Amino acid sequence: MTGGTEDEARQVITGIGVCPGTVVGPVVLMPEAIDEPAPGLRMGPREDHEAQARRVDAAAEQVAGDLQRAADAADGDARDVLEATAAMAADPTLAADARRRVLDEHLVPERAVWEAAEEVVRQFTELGGYFAERARDVADVRDRLVAALTDRPAPGVPEHTEPFVLVAYDLAPSATAALDPARVLAIVTDGAGPTSHTAIVANAKGIPAVVAATGASAALAPEDVVLVDGAAGTVVVHPSPEQVAAARARSQRVRTFDGTGRTRDGHRVQLLANVGDPAGAAAAAASGAEGVGLFRSEFCFLDREQPPTVAEQVAAYRTVFREFGGRKVVIRTLDSGADKPLHFLTVDDEENPALGVRGLRTAARWPELLEQQLDAIAQAAAAEEAEVWVMAPMVSTVGETEWFVERCRAHGLDVAGVMVEVPSAALLSGPILARAAFASIGTNDLTQYTMAADRLLGSLAELSDPWQPAVLRLVEATCAGGAQQGRPVGVCGEAASQPVLAVVLVGLGVSSLSMTARAIPDVAALLREVDVDECRRLARLAVEAESAAEARAVVRENLPVLAELGL
Ligand code: PEP
Ligand code: MG
Repeated sequence: MTGGTEDEARQVITGIGVCPGTVVGPVVLMPEAIDEPAPGLRMGPREDHEAQARRVDAAAEQVAGDLQRAADAADGDARDVLEATAAMAADPTLAADARRRVLDEHLVPERAVWEAAEEVVRQFTELGGYFAERARDVADVRDRLVAALTDRPAPGVPEHTEPFVLVAYDLAPSATAALDPARVLAIVTDGAGPTSHTAIVANAKGIPAVVAATGASAALAPEDVVLVDGAAGTVVVHPSPEQVAAARARSQRVRTFDGTGRTRDGHRVQLLANVGDPAGAAAAAASGAEGVGLFRSEFCFLDREQPPTVAEQVAAYRTVFREFGGRKVVIRTLDSGADKPLHFLTVDDEENPALGVRGLRTAARWPELLEQQLDAIAQAAAAEEAEVWVMAPMVSTVGETEWFVERCRAHGLDVAGVMVEVPSAALLSGPILARAAFASIGTNDLTQYTMAADRLLGSLAELSDPWQPAVLRLVEATCAGGAQQGRPVGVCGEAASQPVLAVVLVGLGVSSLSMTARAIPDVAALLREVDVDECRRLARLAVEAESAAEARAVVRENLPVLAELGL
């Protein structure tokens, strides 16, 4: 076979690239999550209960040993976390209680462990503070024990001797946030849409990622070597050296940003960064971003069982504000719900969490948490030099806007705005912006709610596309409300990071674009090539198209400079 024919024969799995970067590495498969063993799962009367009870001890010993070995091989924070979990696994209390449940209640060992762990979680949660935070470690030990007792791989990201490509059916945003970019070269998931929070977190951490790669976790085996192209959205299985070299060359194009976003004729468009946590703020500041257009404050607390104290919040917010002294930082109040529930702020028995008590709606239910957060933001803002703006997520009505703005004012936070993520807010942007100082359009949720397409579903990626003309019309409506009230309207959803779409958004009247810092240079480069009137003309073409594909195609056709810029 010639090299070319061999290349063609190599399996290529296609998904959606959400974080550019080209890497080659061995596959590590993420084990499936451990489900709760059925309640009341008991042994038969003739089973050897003593022997089953001994299995609990053996599993506890195995889990503690595995965790200690993993701790010995790790360093830094990872080592501390693993050591604490190993100590918890070695504590005899949990195993003793589980053993008793096997012997007295005749529960199967995995069910006995589950119930014993639930009891510890309950006690820890009641104790609050430090203990409540440890409740998640107990759940981790429980899952490892159940896995050992049922002959399944231990849950969580497996250990591996060299950096690897993590392949998962799906990953929670909190699991993605815990990944170490030094160990995880890339992420490939079957599920997760391009605007899912998993994709957003991977991007923020700079881990190349391909989502919606249907069938990837079934097609790939541990140790398969793969070439992941996080821009093209492809995964080549056992790539040739030529394929690796070509992909690396493609990814080496480097642009920089001079710190001022504008069109060719000088129309200003602020180019801002989306920031998830204090760690990401330094990288965003170093990229030259003009400020932060979306600080997702909830990302600081994804793993917490208990609400952070005001002091903890002040410390986290100050770290971000400090990086952007003299520049604008738009902090969003806690946005909990759907795929990124905060344990302390989520109603977990809802049938449709994406349509439930989420975003600002949680603040109406737990007003004291909003008060504490606004207090923390005000303290952090007073202590640092950043120009702090505050906004609320998932606002649907004029009344909610009025209430939020009033609460912000009570804390001395005068630049209070809203996110436009729900069609009702886009359509009512006039009266909403008569109350709010600014609006920031969250195109990820606005697309989800306009198209009735779950942003987590890779299979609905065609509908979950901000190029959908219906979504663009709602952006246009929001900007019209902004113009009527003389208020700025920005975009902070993933749409802002697509250079061609950014041109359309500017043409629709958006005055700032906030995105992952990595995307700023490309967006800036294209805007520099287009006059604002041209942006407006292209925006009209997109809004009048009848499909997302037509909108995208017609705008691209009218931008010949794209080829020159390699976009
Ligand atoms: C959005 O919905 O577009 C947005 C920016 O918020 P998030 O992605 O965090 O839901
Ligand atoms: Mg949103």
